[in-house]
Amino acid sequence: MHVDPYDPGDPMYECFDCGHRVDGGYQGRCPECSGGVRNIAVSRE
Ligand SMILES: [Zn+2]
Repeated sequence: MHVDPYDPGDPMYECFDCGHRVDGGYQGRCPECSGGVRNIAVSRE
């Protein structure tokens, strides 16, 4: 069984500007710098 550090069912977002990561289904803007965030959970390699 492969153990992954990320839960594939848990959305994770990363700030475009400062790289701050937010999880738990957060949507909106970065709490650190108010920048835009992108979903990084869909593009795992
Ligand atoms: Zn930020």
